[in-house]
Amino acid sequence: MKARSSMYIGGEWRPAAGTGTIAVVNPATEQVIAEVPAGTAEDIDAAVRAARAAFPGWAATPPAERAARLAALRDVMAARKDETAETVTAELGSPVRLSKAVHASSPVAVAGSYAELAASYAFEERIGNSTVLMEPVGVVGAITPWNYPLHQIVAKVAPALAAGCVIVVKPAEDTPLTAQLFAEAVREAGLPPGVVNVVTGIGTVAGQALAAHEDVDLVSFTGSTAVGRRIGATAGAAVKRVALELGGKSANVILPSADHARAVKAGVANVMTNSGQTCSAWTRMLVHADRYDEAVEAAVAAVAPYRPGDPRDELCRLGPVVNAAQHARVRGYIDKGVAEGARLVAGGAQPPHDTGYFIAPTVFADVTPEMTIAQEEIFGPVLSILRYEDEDDALRIANGTVYGLAGAVWAGEESEAVAFARRMDTGQVDINGGRFNPLAPFGGYKQSGVGRELGRHGLAEYLQTKSLQF
Ligand code: NAD
Repeated sequence: MKARSSMYIGGEWRPAAGTGTIAVVNPATEQVIAEVPAGTAEDIDAAVRAARAAFPGWAATPPAERAARLAALRDVMAARKDETAETVTAELGSPVRLSKAVHASSPVAVAGSYAELAASYAFEERIGNSTVLMEPVGVVGAITPWNYPLHQIVAKVAPALAAGCVIVVKPAEDTPLTAQLFAEAVREAGLPPGVVNVVTGIGTVAGQALAAHEDVDLVSFTGSTAVGRRIGATAGAAVKRVALELGGKSANVILPSADHARAVKAGVANVMTNSGQTCSAWTRMLVHADRYDEAVEAAVAAVAPYRPGDPRDELCRLGPVVNAAQHARVRGYIDKGVAEGARLVAGGAQPPHDTGYFIAPTVFADVTPEMTIAQEEIFGPVLSILRYEDEDDALRIANGTVYGLAGAVWAGEESEAVAFARRMDTGQVDINGGRFNPLAPFGGYKQSGVGRELGRHGLAEYLQTKSLQF
């Protein structure tokens, strides 16, 4: 794997201020495949200064020219899809088919959508006797997780650039190689020096320094609720804009009139994709008591093809989880599910292979809403199937966690599913298997976060208004 021993700051690869490094581990083999520098507060400071220096020029760049640079970035990422997919598979362990179809492709679509938005968005509007200017917020500090490493970076960088902001990215420590590839793409796309900067480093050092930096105007964070809460507090104390995309525990509600075979199969696939490491995964399947046994049987059958194996294999559908800590954590949750009385119908805590952070695809039946596995985010290939008695009961269970990121509803009639979705406390709902839309706002209700990413709503996060009265 290609690794750089430097940081991308001010349009060039600069040596890190310190000597610390981060080992990048392939989770399928447990082998160290590369080392990258562990950035310090000094590196973060250099990156923020480079961004600040670039801000006036980029903010004054006409939107059409910003759109052209974003289109160039989209094209470079499209040309490098195979390299991206290979890198994501090596450091995240994602099956290569998924790496190509999602990890390497979705960022191209998102960058493309912001190229179009930058060109067409009305950065000015007339309200009565006022002209309202939509101006860039300034220097953005972006802190991203490892689960969709390139998507998470692009979902922040692309709208920031479209808005006229400049940005410093601190990527997750488990997936820095994908972030370095992104920095190369930024350079190749001809973005002016300092507009995008990438500093690798660990969260409690580089991440914290970025979140707390006094010259950062907006902190955009995606990751765990625990860290998000701290970042929100730091930003609040400094009266700084903040966007938080946090965890989830989404419900897949299968109403009695639904096509159960289809809904269960799609629900299992949703949870097993990316080894369950998707913040919006529908990890709780809610089934009516009358159809419960049938659904459990269908879920057991649907999970069988997800045999954990070498993620480089084109036929692999389930890779490992990202690291040893996640491996231990997910297995701990499986043990807890058993201890609290849930019925294990597939998989279990016993690792399927001696080497690699693999987890057997796991399905629990007879899960009750208050159990730990029905309340906390597991972030592994673990599905819980819950029973409900009637629609109000289903709604109570669906809304009964601290999270509200996503969800799904299945019913015979679309209107029946929509009526239920309107009552859900969550930011996204897929109706009868609706497809992902990169233009629809993505973000959470309740403790799943603050703010929205993607599309016009995502762009608005990076803008502030100035009203001129006439
Ligand atoms: P994490 O919170 O540990 O880390 C996320 C990022 O924050 C990393 O870059 C990390 O280095 C950094 N970080 C860690 N401690 C920090 C600190 N004290 N100050 C500043 N930065 C710090 O989360 P993770 O384990 O990388 O990711 C998994 C979590 O992310 C899950 O809970 C998942 O649901 C959530 N997630 C949410 C979304 C969403 O859009 N809502 C998307 C992906 C992941």
